[in-house]
Amino acid sequence: MNSSSLSNLSRQLATTRHRESLLLAPCAMHSCDSAGRQFDEPEHPYRGPFQRDRDRILHSSAYRRLSGKMQVFTGRMGDYHRTRLTHTQEVATIARTIGRALGLNEDLIEALALMHDIGHPPYGHAGEDALNQAAHDVGGFSHNQFALTIVQVLEVRYTETPGLNLTQEVLEGQTARVDKEASGPRPLLEVQLVDASDSTTYDAHDTDDAVKLGLVTLEEMAQIPLIAECLDFVNRQYNGLNPKQLRKAVVHRLIDRQVTDMLERCGGELGTRGFRSATEAMNSDFLIGPGRELAEQKTELESFLHQRVYRHAELIKVREQAQARIKLMFDGFVSDPDKMAPQYRRRADIVGVRRAAVEFIAGMTDHYCEQVFETHFAR
Ligand code: MG
Repeated sequence: MNSSSLSNLSRQLATTRHRESLLLAPCAMHSCDSAGRQFDEPEHPYRGPFQRDRDRILHSSAYRRLSGKMQVFTGRMGDYHRTRLTHTQEVATIARTIGRALGLNEDLIEALALMHDIGHPPYGHAGEDALNQAAHDVGGFSHNQFALTIVQVLEVRYTETPGLNLTQEVLEGQTARVDKEASGPRPLLEVQLVDASDSTTYDAHDTDDAVKLGLVTLEEMAQIPLIAECLDFVNRQYNGLNPKQLRKAVVHRLIDRQVTDMLERCGGELGTRGFRSATEAMNSDFLIGPGRELAEQKTELESFLHQRVYRHAELIKVREQAQARIKLMFDGFVSDPDKMAPQYRRRADIVGVRRAAVEFIAGMTDHYCEQVFETHFAR
């Protein structure tokens, strides 16, 4: 490429609108078609709206707190397995890889991925179940719903507007996670992709962490056809790997197998269908996800992980302790709101003390939750 065509190209890529018109597929969500923000803001001179959303989420304190929240395994089980933060980063990376190959909007994908688990309470799904039970008379608790409360209300970043004032597309993408069975048009392809990448990611890293922590062996996991297939692939490629190398190679293959399947199936079908806009794709029956054979294999893997890992005696112990602790804390905050942080005491005036107590607990990291418990409630 000569220098004049290079400078021509860099001029064309200088604005988000031009860059997206050159790089994105017609079925992608283009920034220029965004429905905007709840509170109008002038456009940024060099960052597109979804890039700004991504940055706002990245700079939020709720995002930073993900580093102290467990994914499946607790901090007491070591420092090397995934946290909610590293899970989130893996989801973002995998989703961007697929999104780029499909011509979808990477900025939107990244914003959605970084946000998708931001509402998780301490102690993973055990914490969520405990909070849901505690709050049953005030609407229950869902981490997907709470993510919306965080970005629309609880995060205070700007003097002019409450919350992060994200775009409608990011908010609607998160809303679609709250009720995945909702009727009406499907969510944007970027939203579907982040959801599919979430499952791609946890199937792989939960396998990795479970074997590394010794909760199951790779030989036991080879009962599952998908793992057996990955093991077979690795054994045909390499000879004499030690157990650590073997585990890593199998997990690598497990990610690659899922990503390639999704790319081949979705890339091929998107090409055939030729959607001319994001709306046309949303109104069709097309769904981003694995092909039928792989979807069945993933279900088998997930039910194995459920029975043998998530229900492992070690984790059941953590789960029971976490749930008892959260219940005690919730009752304690409701009967003595002065034990809550000042922000949540003020919040109780707006949403009631029960909801404020749920929100206070949900925002905690695992470690902070333990600290508060020890300070106020340990007997
Ligand atoms: Mg997730």
